[in-house]
Amino acid sequence: MVQRRRLIVGNWKMHKTIPEARELVQELTDLLDAPAMASVTTVLAPPFTALSTVALAIQGRPYLLGAQTLHWEDQGAFTGEVSGVMLKDLGCRYVIVGHSERRRCFGETDVIVQKKMVAALRHGLRPILCIGETWDQRLSDHTERILSLQLSEALTDVGKEVGDVVIAYEPVWAIGSGRSATVAQVHEAHLHIRTQLVALLGQDTGAQVPILYGGSVTPDNIGELLPIHEVDGALVGSACLNPVLFAKILQIASASPESYQHPSFPA
Ligand code: PEP
Repeated sequence: MVQRRRLIVGNWKMHKTIPEARELVQELTDLLDAPAMASVTTVLAPPFTALSTVALAIQGRPYLLGAQTLHWEDQGAFTGEVSGVMLKDLGCRYVIVGHSERRRCFGETDVIVQKKMVAALRHGLRPILCIGETWDQRLSDHTERILSLQLSEALTDVGKEVGDVVIAYEPVWAIGSGRSATVAQVHEAHLHIRTQLVALLGQDTGAQVPILYGGSVTPDNIGELLPIHEVDGALVGSACLNPVLFAKILQIASASPESYQHPSFPA
């Protein structure tokens, strides 16, 4: 059986000034029992402006630093952009790639997403690749086709570090809507993603890549999402801005340290 550690990622999006970021980390820490947190990998992904503040605030604490996007070049005339080298320099270990808000609001295509995946891995950052269908695509029965396409495009030629990739299944209609996917929908999608990962990367690597669920995760639904086969953790948006809610999510995750593999995907 492959053991994949629980991974919970908080995506702060465009929220929190520097003092607010410091306060959020402090409040979260005050609410958490550090030894209990040892079983969960927790990543905080603040906006670029708060990365160095959060990097300092989490020193000696059980969190890792993540960014919300990156540019695929290391440096150059790309006004407003931030590269993987710069994120590494700030202490980032993870970076979110292909979030549906970036695809929708900033025109990120699968080709751009693939370049960002390569850049992240080149700099030793673990990319959290977001994939997911819109509501219309689900209604027209295209969910699996979209997931397969986004996955195969993003993972094309990413190189030997592909085992460091994390996938986040984020149905677009569930993000920020207060309407999480159902247990059956999550189960079906994660199983499909695992099947595709094994087909694309081979049994060993395909079985080791964590698959997170994201979309209106709260303390009320995390307890039913984590025991689903092939759900290794969660990508949390709104709820991670509230230290009480995020601490509850982390506590529930730390009490459920094992992820369950589908019987057809043994080690
Ligand atoms: C997200 O932005 O990745 C997300 C899952 O947001 P929310 O939890 O608010 O739906």
